[in-house]
Amino acid sequence: MIFDPQALLLIQFICLLIGTSAIAWGLIAHPLNIASKASIRLSLANLCVLLGVILNTQRGEGSSYLFWFVSDISLLLGFMLLRRGTQYLFRLHNSTKFDTIALIITTAIMLSAPPNASSEHFLAAVFSSTAALFFIMLTKDNFFAIKRDVGSRIAMVMVTPLLAMAGIFIIRVFIALFLPEQSNTFLSLNTREAIPVLWFYVFLILLINIVMIGNAITRLVSKIRLLADRDQLTGLWNRRAMRKMLTHIHQRWLRDHVPYSVILLDLDHFKAINDRYGHAVGDVALQTAATLFASKLRANDVLSRHGGEEFLVLLPATNAQEALAVAEKLHRILRENPISWQKHSISLTASLGYATIYPECEPEKLLIQADQAMYRAKLAGRDRICQAG
Ligand code: GH3
Ligand code: MG
Ligand code: MG
Repeated sequence: MIFDPQALLLIQFICLLIGTSAIAWGLIAHPLNIASKASIRLSLANLCVLLGVILNTQRGEGSSYLFWFVSDISLLLGFMLLRRGTQYLFRLHNSTKFDTIALIITTAIMLSAPPNASSEHFLAAVFSSTAALFFIMLTKDNFFAIKRDVGSRIAMVMVTPLLAMAGIFIIRVFIALFLPEQSNTFLSLNTREAIPVLWFYVFLILLINIVMIGNAITRLVSKIRLLADRDQLTGLWNRRAMRKMLTHIHQRWLRDHVPYSVILLDLDHFKAINDRYGHAVGDVALQTAATLFASKLRANDVLSRHGGEEFLVLLPATNAQEALAVAEKLHRILRENPISWQKHSISLTASLGYATIYPECEPEKLLIQADQAMYRAKLAGRDRICQAG
């Protein structure tokens, strides 16, 4: 095997880069324990690619399954793990079955050729096709996952390195099949002609790892946002998030004078449920109530857990008459759906107070008025609806 010294130096640099990435992801997985299932796969992905590159550079004149076959399969396994890591990171559909079948088919086709330089173009075409497929699928997975958090434009920019990698493999297939005389530049790693392409690999490896770190950060930030704005037990918006949305809706009311309403709903005698059946059943009752209420609201209504067994509903573009209709729906759905637990049927009722915005009323005052209305419903015997004012 003849090595160009400059190419050798670059290959060593690439190995160092991949090895460092493997260690960094390993540390992120453990002891940092950040998205550990994903990070461990990204670490293994880098290790497989490292092994593949090292074996690949050992290719010489003789036949060797290790250098002409295991090397490529190790690279493909690395790309597969990269995809699996991304899927863990974003909780996406598991593609292991599809990827394994693709890998088995590739293995079978590659084994049909002798593992030496005489099959170089054939092996390169088969390997590069599967690699391109893996990178196209990885780009797709990544794009749709981060689009949810950062929008399509930024998502497109972030997946560009992955798409470029897919592009390189497609070019390699084309060269292996139709321009075999260019193989020193595009298929080999250890020739002087390969140096520009090797630099490009350095650039892409760096970018791909940056994209993956960007993914991990995007995921963490959206998780933190979710934790900050959501109630843990019911998954509904919490008080903090509701305040923000109430302020926002109030600003809109000041601008366009389309009234909005709020409903405050408190479950009746809830303490008795806890006392009789236990706190865990109380928790299930709260979750069930939340699901029932959510099923009766429109997409732009905001349902939040206001406190222990209190729920607050914010109804944009809703006058008093319409708010009463919504309150009646919530009141009814709870009464009509007792919670079944073991052999018991636990009936839940609620007292509701509602209030509609009017000129000179501030959001805080509106909430106090809804609370007072709810309190009147309690005093009047519970299981009923009262209007503010
Ligand atoms: P009222 O009809 O007057 O509203 O009576 P109540 O028993 O519903 O009201 P009270 O304020 O006396 O008690 C509220 C109960 O809600 C007491 C508390 O243990 C329970 N609670 C609050 N948060 C949770 C929770 O997250 N899980 C469970 N299981 N119970 C909760
Ligand atoms: Mg209460
Ligand atoms: Mg109560």
